[in-house]
Amino acid sequence: MNDKFEDIEQILIEGNKQYQWKIIQEEEFNQIDGKIPRYPVLILTCMDPRIDVYRIFQLKPGDLFVLRNSGNVYTEDVLRSVLVAIHKYNIQYIVVLGHLDCGMKKLHLHDLTNKLTDFAFKKIGRSGTNFYLELLKFFKAFADEIKNIENQVQKFRNAREIPTDIKITGMLYDPHTGWVFRDEELKPYSNYEDFAKDFRNILQSKKYELIDYIESNQDEIIGENVLHDVETLMEIDENRKNIKLVESTKNQESAISDKLEEIPNETPILNANKFVSRGVHSNLISIPKIKIPKIFVPKIKVHVPVIYKKSEED
Ligand SMILES: [Zn+2]
Repeated sequence: MNDKFEDIEQILIEGNKQYQWKIIQEEEFNQIDGKIPRYPVLILTCMDPRIDVYRIFQLKPGDLFVLRNSGNVYTEDVLRSVLVAIHKYNIQYIVVLGHLDCGMKKLHLHDLTNKLTDFAFKKIGRSGTNFYLELLKFFKAFADEIKNIENQVQKFRNAREIPTDIKITGMLYDPHTGWVFRDEELKPYSNYEDFAKDFRNILQSKKYELIDYIESNQDEIIGENVLHDVETLMEIDENRKNIKLVESTKNQESAISDKLEEIPNETPILNANKFVSRGVHSNLISIPKIKIPKIFVPKIKVHVPVIYKKSEED
């Protein structure tokens, strides 16, 4: 009917074929046991297309529930799903995951009113004497994404339908850096402005967290990378020039142990730490080379499972 939409449909269907091919190659899987998530968690987040909850927490399908709407707000329909999640699927922990640069913060209600159909216009203003207030109530727009997280968490806590032993917390995602900030990290800031003012320091402490993480997970992360100190975030550039693709698991293991032996006894991350501790004023030109181990698993096996077996009688 419409070429534009035909193209979109094709993108989706082609994508699904690629997914099927990856399942066959065992690069993806879709065999998940049961509907009860692996973790008893439900995350309510915004519909912003930059947020991929499974990706930012490195989860797998079936790990937890995700609910989305514009602005990650508590609504009657959210409550409906939350109650199903709690009582049918034993969810014990709710996270309101807001994000920076949320479109609901910049929602121009007056512009919107010009675009609404007459029906929508009438419906929203059904009971109100102040149409602007009715619009605010209907769209649940907000001016501050940090305050909004707090407000939504409070709404969950106040909802008497939700059992009191359910843990409810807020988190903030930054689509520009990929960092998620926990409740404790947001606590010192009552609003977005305060948070934004201190953002550089906040990212700096995240950098130390990441260094600790790399330090304690060296054995699992194998590879050769360069650690850069940049003004706002830690960037790990992949430098795989020297990693040879090996054809068998045995060779791969020995390649990994070779890589591990190459790591100097003096922990390279300590150097990086020293470097980073000079903070935002550090000279960005001198980049210390450190080796961060990283597992590299080449996909060389292609095996095609029997998806459909023709019965003998046919
Ligand atoms: Zn948003």
